[in-house]
Amino acid sequence: MNFKQNNIPDFTSSFPQGYNRNMEFIDISKKDAVNTALLEWFASAKRDLPFRTERDPYKIWISEIMAQQTRIDTLLSYFERFTRLFPDVKALDAASEDEVLKAWEGLGYYSRARNLKKAASEIVGAGRFPETAAELKKLPGIGPYTAGAVASIAFGQKAAAVDGNVLRVMSRIYGSDRDIADLKTRRLLENEIEATMPEETGDYNESLMELGALICSPKSPKCMICPVRDLCSACMEGLTEELPVKTAKKKPRVVRQRGYIVIRNGKLLLEKRPEGVLLTGMYGLPLIENDSSDQDQKTALANLSEGAETPPVLLGTSRHIFTHIIWETEVYLIQADQPDHKSNIDRPDRVAEDQTEFADRIAAFSADQLDHLALPTAFKKMLALYDGFNSAD
Ligand code: SF4
Repeated sequence: MNFKQNNIPDFTSSFPQGYNRNMEFIDISKKDAVNTALLEWFASAKRDLPFRTERDPYKIWISEIMAQQTRIDTLLSYFERFTRLFPDVKALDAASEDEVLKAWEGLGYYSRARNLKKAASEIVGAGRFPETAAELKKLPGIGPYTAGAVASIAFGQKAAAVDGNVLRVMSRIYGSDRDIADLKTRRLLENEIEATMPEETGDYNESLMELGALICSPKSPKCMICPVRDLCSACMEGLTEELPVKTAKKKPRVVRQRGYIVIRNGKLLLEKRPEGVLLTGMYGLPLIENDSSDQDQKTALANLSEGAETPPVLLGTSRHIFTHIIWETEVYLIQADQPDHKSNIDRPDRVAEDQTEFADRIAAFSADQLDHLALPTAFKKMLALYDGFNSAD
């Protein structure tokens, strides 16, 4: 199989000055035909999505951040609710972090919501929405893909928006056997796209994303109805199963731990998670890894069960998969009454994110308060093992 494009005739007279004319990914002899076919198909086949009706950079930004880990059809209701609550960047900046996290509940990966809030503050502080990919990349939570998507779709900038879908589609169309897990491949494709993309930059980027979402799926691509079928190397050479080439990901690490549902005086004790751990800044059940050597945390956890009449009761095991880590958590119930406990434990607002002491990060929540708290799904699964704590009681 000859994936590489050698002996390429000089079709590059229209390239920006100084650009390396020897493309390594994109076959310049057919890029115009591919680009035209993609744009024509996109004009007629694109889905009617709320963030496409107006070229509002704020809404495009929100939709792109949501789409990073969530399918488009799933995110639509979240997008509608989020942009109703925070219709523009000023509203997002004015909201509290807790309000933003609550609106994000269910989408997971809460660092995205925190970064949205931080970036909104920076944008409002600067007095204008950044228009170039280079400016956008300086904001928290905005990487090259999102920066390229917003700059091209909202502002027409020649900026590539290359994610896994685009790498797959382009590898197949141009018959590239480069490893798409290698960052160098992504950078190479970004450079070549920016040198060869048509004037309709936003539509072009969106056409690649849409083709990857609707037609050129990872398994069983629908080549029969694909707009670039007659131009696609993988399709013509029967290589759709071989391409793209992607080296295997590392297996996620399994963390075995114990989680504690501590009900004290009718309230649930939760820990605000410290810096440097998964789900930083979110409330969750107190956890301790099975092989932890942290004596302070063990002592603090033992203190939580002060006043309990029975030893902790094992409710079951909960499993939650993050990108690189799997939590396997044995969930225990501790019920204790201790009227003399620190009075300020009932005030979650006093718990600052940078508390270093475990005990200072603990706060008590009533069932009604819990209903208004953005609780990560991993902890909701653990709490689902116990049905004795809910607002209907
Ligand atoms: S022809 Fe098939 S493999 Fe090629 S881009 Fe279209 S769907 Fe993907």
